[in-house]
Amino acid sequence: MALSSHYTEEQICKMDIRDFLAQAHFDDILHSVRTLQVARYARESTKHEEQIMALENQVVRLDTMIESNPKFILDEKHKFTEYGISGRQVDDRVAFNMMLQSASRYEFNVLIVQDTARFARNIEQLFTNIRILKDYGVGVLILNGNHWTYNMTETDILRLAIDAGMAQGESMRTAKRVSDGVESYRARGQLVISGIFGYIYEKNIDKRLNTLTPHPVESITVKRIFDLYTHPDPQKRMGSGKIADYLNENNYKTAVGDLNWSASKVVRVLKNEKYMGYILYGKVKVVDTIKKKKVATKIKPIREDVYDKDGNLIKKCNLVKGNWTPIVSEEVWWLANEIRTKRAKEYIYSEKGNIVTGLREPKDIIAQKSFCQCGYTRSIQYVHVATQKKEAQFRYTCRCQINSGSHKEKSVCHVPAVSEVKLWLMSLKVFGYIFGDSKDEILYTINLLKEAQKYKQKNRTGKSLEDLESELKKVETQIENLYLDKLSGEIDANMFKKLTVRLEEEKAGIEKGIRDRQLEEARDSKETFDIETIEKKLNTYVDFTGRKVSDELIDMFVERIIYRDNDEFVWEMNLSGVRKNTIDYRIKEYSEEFAKSLQNDDNFNILHTFIISTEECQQFMESSRVGRRFVKKYWKPITVKIAIK
Ligand SMILES: [Zn+2]
Repeated sequence: MALSSHYTEEQICKMDIRDFLAQAHFDDILHSVRTLQVARYARESTKHEEQIMALENQVVRLDTMIESNPKFILDEKHKFTEYGISGRQVDDRVAFNMMLQSASRYEFNVLIVQDTARFARNIEQLFTNIRILKDYGVGVLILNGNHWTYNMTETDILRLAIDAGMAQGESMRTAKRVSDGVESYRARGQLVISGIFGYIYEKNIDKRLNTLTPHPVESITVKRIFDLYTHPDPQKRMGSGKIADYLNENNYKTAVGDLNWSASKVVRVLKNEKYMGYILYGKVKVVDTIKKKKVATKIKPIREDVYDKDGNLIKKCNLVKGNWTPIVSEEVWWLANEIRTKRAKEYIYSEKGNIVTGLREPKDIIAQKSFCQCGYTRSIQYVHVATQKKEAQFRYTCRCQINSGSHKEKSVCHVPAVSEVKLWLMSLKVFGYIFGDSKDEILYTINLLKEAQKYKQKNRTGKSLEDLESELKKVETQIENLYLDKLSGEIDANMFKKLTVRLEEEKAGIEKGIRDRQLEEARDSKETFDIETIEKKLNTYVDFTGRKVSDELIDMFVERIIYRDNDEFVWEMNLSGVRKNTIDYRIKEYSEEFAKSLQNDDNFNILHTFIISTEECQQFMESSRVGRRFVKKYWKPITVKIAIK
């Protein structure tokens, strides 16, 4: 993430300069909010007149760009220009050496160049220069390719090396591509895609000649995804969700240039056989020839023909080699495919069913505990990133609504997003009630709840498990008899069918009754509230001076927060103080039954209900600990129900 989304302008300006250079990304430097001493270096290698023209254009363009930025200070003596020198050896370059000397006197912080080719002739020299300059506290801003060299991650280095290598090898590769491909294009047929992340789609008048060229930046991202997923050490392999986080954190842009990588986008990359240079035909089929509606067929790639032991073909290879440069090797692609299908299987068969699904806990502690009344989680989203004077602001949004994207009307849920500030205020009030001076009241209520629980268990209505089981036996015997009656010709086929359908329905009903009852009894047999532990925990010290309760305490005592319509919230507390993994509450699919259970107070042990008025909200918003503008239309009284697990 860019610096500017984390820090205010004031904070950025106060940073130590080297700290700033080390944390900054390309954009933070290019659109710097703090004043920077810059230098610029331009070079051209031959004396040819046209190239001198080109040089001047380049210099003028660069200088105009730099001088139009009020935060860049560019002294005349820091405009370094190399005129018509071959540049094969560093020693030949007078201006370059002057620039290095000037850097060694710590005269500037940022060196701006147009591209890597102007800065160094080969990759080794490029990185040597970068390292020398860094020792002098100078980072290089390379405009083509958006590189910032002061503090490069492994990936940045790779990306820069490839950019530099690409410039060097462009002509070589073009020639190779032509000789490699053309002959076999026709035999393979046409490439039937419109665009694919990682490649530039090159259309040809003869559609059969359409091809793909690796995109200089996106192809690195694709390669990185495969590398992380298929790490040689299985312990170090990342799942799709983790990779998505990694890409977002390390500034790898998506196809549309944003940082909205998700697990499913990563999986889409891993699944695409084009990255190893193949086409899988039949991935979609046309189901409506008039509207040209297509559906995915979920066809699986088959690497080679498979025969049974008698030599009969049972699976046919469905991949055709394409004419373009692969981004990953076939081995890596198939390994990723193997890992992916294995993970899917592990999910289906794992008892918990949640370790490998990408259902992992978010970093934000409130988000970890947040659930919408529709059953889905609530995710943290930017309201806006930090600007010059304002800190970043967030809200919690229903995952179901995020998933439905622009098709909002299709979402089963319409409960609005909630500002983080509401959660902070509630945390103070909820913890204030529990760990404030209501201790006796709470213990008294918990005792009442405990008694009620016992009473409920003793006086359960409805049939007992034994009754239900004997009923089940009866129906099963009836069904059996029916078969015998049919065999002996006592009833005809029609009657038999009618009667069996009715009995099977009855049987299913009883079976469901048994399951429900078993569940109920299992629930009741669980230990009820441990008053002694709770009493001890109620003495926990809580600091109420901040704008919210500390993450540690929220983590320890909040079981989950349920967001309901009309600004109603259930804070389910776990007063035993044993942290619970909220993954158990996470769902993969909408269930009406589950959603309804979250909306029904009967399913919670509610200790206390209170309302926070809009006036109180306003006071909190405008207080020095929050210090945000209060916009009345976004606020209404908040209903808070404290429940105990
Ligand atoms: Zn929802």
